[in-house]
Amino acid sequence: MKKILLIVFILIINISVIYAGKPMLESDTYITEKGDMKITFVGHASLIIEFNKIVIHIDPFSRVWNYDNLPKADMIIITHHHGDHLEPELIKKLRKPGAPVIAPELSSKDIIDCIVMSDDETKIVNGIKIEAIPAYNFVHRRKSGDPYHKKGEGNGYILNLGGKKIYIAGDTENTTEMKELKKIDIAFLPMNLPYTMTEEMVADAVKAFRPVVLYPYHCRGSDSEKLIKLLEGEINTKVLIRDFYKGMKKN
Ligand code: ZN
Ligand code: ZN
Repeated sequence: MKKILLIVFILIINISVIYAGKPMLESDTYITEKGDMKITFVGHASLIIEFNKIVIHIDPFSRVWNYDNLPKADMIIITHHHGDHLEPELIKKLRKPGAPVIAPELSSKDIIDCIVMSDDETKIVNGIKIEAIPAYNFVHRRKSGDPYHKKGEGNGYILNLGGKKIYIAGDTENTTEMKELKKIDIAFLPMNLPYTMTEEMVADAVKAFRPVVLYPYHCRGSDSEKLIKLLEGEINTKVLIRDFYKGMKKN
């Protein structure tokens, strides 16, 4: 019975359609206490979460998809200031009038009326509880010696939607703070070098905090088969691989 319930929770629909020869975005729909929640994989680190008639864009980035035909945002959440996560002009275009934009301090300068969150804060924005989680490197560094992502500059977030906890990690490694997380239903963890995690680091984190569902994202060039092997025997976590690069323009 438990197994059946898990499968029902995990996903009710995965849509991957080829329409008129053009690739369409994939999405998974989950059942929550307050109706369906649909997560669309726009590309790289960009997601759309639709829940309770609210459209939430995470790290919208125009190089991964043409946003003209995607729904406008009731809320936008930004993890950090790097160009593949923060695009102020796109935020302006996507944002419905009055829609909140949430970002760390360093990312907030070019966003009008930004709600700034530090990496230890929790806020309720338009009825949605949002917890910020530190996102940083402690292993991978630039030649200068600085980590690619310094602690305090970027945020991961846990969104609480209809009783489900969705963790969007941002650009980070397998930090202590990540490994101490509890009761995460859906986790998006970055897996690419040199900026974020190796397959081994992702597996290490998953073995520690055991999300019900794991999506590797921000994962260009990484080896998802290797990750699945590393997590063999971790029956508490279902690893779902989605294509985050189908719309990436060649340049
Ligand atoms: Zn980054
Ligand atoms: Zn990035």
